[in-house]
Amino acid sequence: MRKPIMGGNWKMYKTAREAVQTIEDLRERMEGVEEIEVVVFPPFTVLGLAEKILRDSSIGLGAQNMHWEAGGSYTGEISAPMLVDLGCRYVILGHSERRRYFGESDERVNKKIKSALTFELIPVVCVGETLKERKEGSFKRVVETQLNLCLKGIGPEEAERMVIAYEPVWAIGTGVTATPEQAEEMHSFVRELLAKLFGEDLADSMRIQYGGSVKPQNIKELMREPDIDGALVGGASLDASSFARIVKYGE
Ligand code: PEP
Repeated sequence: MRKPIMGGNWKMYKTAREAVQTIEDLRERMEGVEEIEVVVFPPFTVLGLAEKILRDSSIGLGAQNMHWEAGGSYTGEISAPMLVDLGCRYVILGHSERRRYFGESDERVNKKIKSALTFELIPVVCVGETLKERKEGSFKRVVETQLNLCLKGIGPEEAERMVIAYEPVWAIGTGVTATPEQAEEMHSFVRELLAKLFGEDLADSMRIQYGGSVKPQNIKELMREPDIDGALVGGASLDASSFARIVKYGE
């Protein structure tokens, strides 16, 4: 059985004071929630504060990006061991905003995944097609290429610790969600690809999150699909009450 995982990606939002308020609020709302893995991904600047509030809670902490080297002359960058040192267990890699605005390639994502795994972080690896690619009908090929390149050289014992996030770019921050059928079609396709890479048993145990305008109003129907194992939530995770409702499937 795959334990559902819900992640809140805060992107470049929240000052320290705002973040502390939201995390304290979320911690209270998540008390007693054990059947779902909940993770918040605040900006780098508040990871240390978040760790203090989340210590001894069931909510996990993650970063939104990292560099592939453990250390070096890379001004402005942060490495996997630095994230571990701050109490992170997860890291989002290959988010479409990183790909689009910062030129992040699949090859770089691959190096980052390897570094994250070396330092025992759980990578949340994002893949997904643009609107143009969806319209042209090349979306499956695009996602297959992303996945194959991002996961190149990664063995089954490492893959076991990874989470994949299928995030169609046309659904991120647009208010347009993939229908449950569209999402399920892609999730089962991604699982087939994972089976080709790592074998069926392992693919069956790996979690695939859906991301793209998830809200309390649409989570329940998405989670009914057999291959959707959780959500990576942007905008609707900024508010503790809305994120908590998503974790509770809209209740
Ligand atoms: C995201 O940033 O990963 C995301 C899915 O954003 P949103 O929920 O706002 O579409």
